[in-house]
Amino acid sequence: MADCIFCKIAKHELGSDSVYEDNEFLAFRDVNPAAPTHVLLIPKKHVSSLLDEGAEQKLLGKMMALVPRLAKELGLADDGFRVVINTGQEGGQTVDHLHIHILGGRALQWPPG
Ligand code: IMP
Repeated sequence: MADCIFCKIAKHELGSDSVYEDNEFLAFRDVNPAAPTHVLLIPKKHVSSLLDEGAEQKLLGKMMALVPRLAKELGLADDGFRVVINTGQEGGQTVDHLHIHILGGRALQWPPG
């Protein structure tokens, strides 16, 4: 998607503070962190949300399997962390490119606002 900010980040047309990259996925620090550690994991290919047919089992499985690896590398494994996929307008999704938030580094409250 030509005007998708996360596609541009995935293609390195826009900079990011990346913490992980492979052929299919990129993880980078959120520009407006909601916790001391706040990383976004995205597929490099454009998938608009969890409701997109592109969000298929294999892709989601790979992404979720990366989460504990990243959490360990980010130093979140001992104290715990949260993963969030905001979906749609009322779900709080503001960027229409599938992303998993990985949040940690403080005691997180529940329920979220
Ligand atoms: P959403 O609200 O679940 O869609 O999350 C989008 C996230 O992307 C927000 O937490 C934003 O702070 C973050 N974000 C938006 N633009 C950028 C960027 O250019 N770099 C890093 N994070 C971004």
